[in-house]
Amino acid sequence: PEGRRRKPDWIRVKAPVSKGYQETRKLMRDLNLNTVCEEAACPNIGECWTKKHATVMILGDVCTRACAFCNVKTGMPRAVDPLEPEHTAAAAAAMGLEHIVITSVDRDDLADGGAGQFVKVIQALRRETPNTTIEILTPDFRGKMRPALEAICAAGPDVYNHNLETVPRLYPTIRPGARYYASLRLLEEVKRHDPLIFTKSGVMLGLGEQRLEVHQVMDDMRCADVDFITMGQYLQPTPKHAKVEEFVTPKGFGAYGAVARAKGFLQVASTPLTRSSYHAGDDFAVMKAA
Ligand code: SF4
Ligand code: SF4
Repeated sequence: PEGRRRKPDWIRVKAPVSKGYQETRKLMRDLNLNTVCEEAACPNIGECWTKKHATVMILGDVCTRACAFCNVKTGMPRAVDPLEPEHTAAAAAAMGLEHIVITSVDRDDLADGGAGQFVKVIQALRRETPNTTIEILTPDFRGKMRPALEAICAAGPDVYNHNLETVPRLYPTIRPGARYYASLRLLEEVKRHDPLIFTKSGVMLGLGEQRLEVHQVMDDMRCADVDFITMGQYLQPTPKHAKVEEFVTPKGFGAYGAVARAKGFLQVASTPLTRSSYHAGDDFAVMKAA
């Protein structure tokens, strides 16, 4: 339709039909867990779920914010599910995960921004699946950042991820509820708090950002001691969401990746279908072995 660009062939997605996909789906339903794979309409769901890699989205499926790129429902969220930590650990155990990624909707309505639930989930995972490494991808905890970070860092995740999502110039239209420098500060504070936690961040490309603006974001991340970076193509989930301004070519992603490596990131993932949790476990295993 008008206004929506055709996807180039390098954004090819396999239909999710495998047995592994069905099993992952059933497990999540049975345990009453949400995944960002489904809620964000992620193009990698077929591949990831076949390999039993999923990103659990805690604190419900309704977000108090409405970012212009995001497919998650917006509105008044429901009460926090007290069984969610145990259920998340049960899912990790049932799937035999070596690495799990936990994210959440933004809960500006909660007094602690939802940090307490992250802590409980980490504790449940450490108890039930002590060999699983834990990566969390959190909101910015606007106005409640310090206590939220202190509590979460004390619980000791292996990787702390918070996405900058785009260049600062595009924040007012793309990420209106957030502040670029607040997100950057969050990453810096995590590192200051516990230098043993790996920090990670990412941007979506194709929203109208300029090349040098992306390089600047990389520099900002390095100044905040961010260890890992992910870059992937933005895809418009529905016609109501922000338009794709550009499809960056695989070669273009390769060039950004080379710049990122030269700037000193320990881990760089930069391809059209890269998402913040794509191959997160494999990458981290390589990291730990190094
Ligand atoms: Fe889920 Fe991440 Fe894989 Fe997408 S890339 S399907 S969000 S685990
Ligand atoms: Fe989506 Fe996160 Fe923005 Fe909520 S805060 S709308 S879940 S990107």
